[in-house]
Amino acid sequence: MKLIECYQQNKPVLSLEVSPPRRNAPIDTVAQIFDTLHRLVELNPSYISVTYGAGGSTRGNTVEIASRIKNDYGIESMAHLTCVGHSRQDIDSILKQMAEKGIDNILALRGDMPENEPDYDIKSQDYHYAVELIREVKAKTDFCIVAAAYPEGHPESRRLSQDLHHLKEKVDAGVDFLITQMFFNNRVYYEFMERTAAIGVNVPIVPGVFPVLHARQIRRTIYLCGASIPADLLRLVDKYEDQPAEMVKAGIDYAAGQIVDLLENGVPGIHFYTMNKAEQAREILQKAGMV
Ligand code: FAD
Repeated sequence: MKLIECYQQNKPVLSLEVSPPRRNAPIDTVAQIFDTLHRLVELNPSYISVTYGAGGSTRGNTVEIASRIKNDYGIESMAHLTCVGHSRQDIDSILKQMAEKGIDNILALRGDMPENEPDYDIKSQDYHYAVELIREVKAKTDFCIVAAAYPEGHPESRRLSQDLHHLKEKVDAGVDFLITQMFFNNRVYYEFMERTAAIGVNVPIVPGVFPVLHARQIRRTIYLCGASIPADLLRLVDKYEDQPAEMVKAGIDYAAGQIVDLLENGVPGIHFYTMNKAEQAREILQKAGMV
């Protein structure tokens, strides 16, 4: 089933994101992800998306896990795919594999530049930006195509206006809906919605919610994705830096509060970054009244 159909019903859609196990272990030996999935399925999401590991470490498992979510658990799935570092032939073969495994939905991304290769030359690659992957997927396949959006601008962009222009290019290339990067102040999302509407982006833009459960994790995450921390969240992180259990509780409340406010403001759904933590996902979503 194409996931855009979920957003055509007038009910907020719950989607969950998981990541494949880090090591390239054979799929059947990786019991943990299936235990996590088992517990996430109980939350009755409309679909589960599976990330595509940067640098190749977890790539092999994405298609397999997305296929199992759909075929073994009976829940729709979406496979993420990054094109940086892949040749056109690689992409053709991954797309073919996805279709053979019954996957209907793809989150088409460029991906980050390799962290340990400062001289990495994107110009020498077959793909330079997500829009090129999106155009190709649209031309060659019948997948429902999803893309990433950045309410605070992508970290490489000099100006939000530039980033918005490139976002519009992705949508015009055939994107069915967008999922946002995490943000910690809902105002950022609401303002982004106004800006995207003003330039004619008229596909659903699903807010991505990331729970801050560890003080140290948030610093690294923000360093990588460029999201800003509002003062009230910073106060919590500072207060509970040395009290991990209290930080988890405060992080659960904060994320639940964000979701409640988003739902009250009529968002098409919530894309929840589970970080493979099923128990905390359940607590947050229950608190927010979504499960
Ligand atoms: P693009 O849309 O190509 O944008 C990248 C940058 O290039 C932006 O600054 C944009 O403004 C600029 N740009 C775009 N087009 C042009 C152009 N024609 N000319 C000049 N500049 C241009 N990463 C993973 O490795 N695995 C995942 O599974 C994964 N899942 C994600 C899920 C979501 C919901 C989000 C929001 C991000 C995810 N990421 C993932 C991170 C993503 O790969 C990085 O943010 C990456 O740096 C950008 O990918 P993109 O598809 O947004 O790139």
